[in-house]
Amino acid sequence: MTKHIFVTGGVVSSLGKGLNSASIGLLLESRGLKVNLQKFDPYVNVDPGTMSPFEHGEVYVTEDGAETDLDLGHYERFTNAVVNKNCNFTTGSIYYSVITKERRGEYLGKTVQIVPHITNEIKECIRKVTTPDVDVVIHEIGGIVGDIESQPFLEAIRQFGLDVGRHNVLYVHLTLVPYLRAADEVKTKPTQHAVSLLRQAGMQPDVLICRCEKPLSQELKAKIALFCNVEKEAVIDEKDVKPYLYEIPILLKKQGLDNIIINKLGLKTDGGNLQEWERMLERLKNPKYSTEIAVVGKYIAHRSAYESLYEAIIHGGIANEASVEVRRVEAEEVESKGAEACLGGVKGILVPGGFGERGIEGKIASARYAREKKIPYLGICLGLQCATIEFARNACGLKEANSTEFDKNTSHPVISLLEEQKGIKEMGGTMRLGAQDCLLETGTKTYAAYGQDKISERHRHRYEFNNDYRELFSSHGMISSGFSPSGKLVEAMELRDHPWFVCVQFHPEFKSKPIRPHPLFREFIQAALTFEREGKPTHTERPLQASATRG
Ligand code: GLN
Repeated sequence: MTKHIFVTGGVVSSLGKGLNSASIGLLLESRGLKVNLQKFDPYVNVDPGTMSPFEHGEVYVTEDGAETDLDLGHYERFTNAVVNKNCNFTTGSIYYSVITKERRGEYLGKTVQIVPHITNEIKECIRKVTTPDVDVVIHEIGGIVGDIESQPFLEAIRQFGLDVGRHNVLYVHLTLVPYLRAADEVKTKPTQHAVSLLRQAGMQPDVLICRCEKPLSQELKAKIALFCNVEKEAVIDEKDVKPYLYEIPILLKKQGLDNIIINKLGLKTDGGNLQEWERMLERLKNPKYSTEIAVVGKYIAHRSAYESLYEAIIHGGIANEASVEVRRVEAEEVESKGAEACLGGVKGILVPGGFGERGIEGKIASARYAREKKIPYLGICLGLQCATIEFARNACGLKEANSTEFDKNTSHPVISLLEEQKGIKEMGGTMRLGAQDCLLETGTKTYAAYGQDKISERHRHRYEFNNDYRELFSSHGMISSGFSPSGKLVEAMELRDHPWFVCVQFHPEFKSKPIRPHPLFREFIQAALTFEREGKPTHTERPLQASATRG
């Protein structure tokens, strides 16, 4: 019988429900259990795919091509779960499904209502990830208790506990216990109120995770336990762990959260440990080297807009025992101030994915700076497209070169709309999405990073390198190093006469984990360290790490 953990939040949002859900997943895996994770988002958008990254941060792409909330990235980075389209539902997607059924007459003339129709639909979504091979599913409810839009989800998870038996579900509530500087006091009242709201919704939390600035005293824990009707040992404190988010599972384990969950759910455990994670954390906290790279993007002001990317950079650092400082550069600033002013001194330049024209010329100038100064460059999706536009203009002499995304009538469309995209009018979920196989050319730096010729990576784009320019590019020194299995689509490109200038049409950041850094990030950071060390660009070959090789 699969068990369920429901993670809710109270007092304020942004307490880290996603990171805590992921951490619980890791702790249970470390005890030999198989977990899956799921997130419910209370907003009305059907998925975050069409939302601006300024609104809701990164859109995380799953293997099966769902455009999902960024918390799913935490789930995959912390655990072995491979999330899919059933792991993220929104109010919009729930209503969309119910209204579609209503239009088809599936409710047989009944009045369709929030209870039971919407709540039944939510419970149906919970069951979609409840497969016999999974011991525990962790379901995160976005937003906080008390939000109008969270109510149907709270009602559904209350009912679900009743449906499957209370002993098969565990309610974990994440809350804030603030320290008031002026009063020099830690306050428990907001938590009491949040738990009271949860109880009004019919749920008694089993575990409270209290976010706080400093660890809570035993006395305070006892007070929270009494007032919130939770066992004292199940009141867990979680002080801020920045910058080492990967420490959260360790903090939770120190307070015995894995045992509490296992006992309360009556789980049988067998083997497993946290050693690999702890070793990773040691490496992360004790770097031997350091370097600085620049990320040139257009949503730089919003940290979570590039969540997986920044994490993957940290992973690349872990693989090289290095701390990596990231200079966040607004692409438009490169346009106004120039590349030297914005990028001078960095040891690597990364241009990530993106959409729309704003900042494009700044990204193109950044790629040029990296190419001409022989600074390691990693171009991801739009970062590949900008590098090819730059190369066409300045190395191949095609001054008018552009992507048809930015100039429909360019005389040299080096980047153009994918054939399969022509005629698509709907915006949501219609890009080339999810995992695609890719074949790598031996002898290239891309191949050297992976150490294998067949790989699979996740995509999210509508535009692609125009094959008409393949020969011309190659004759000027930019070669195609990866192709779709049909050979029709160029998936990776690199410069022949440059220490490390690698561009990919896919998003490697979605598959990088702290304990399994992605090979491209590993090699990119290694190239940056070489550049740092030698002050000049030389690419050192070194044995490939089997553990970091991914297929
Ligand atoms: N806008 C580009 C495209 O659709 C790049 C997309 C991306 O970087 N994810 O192809």
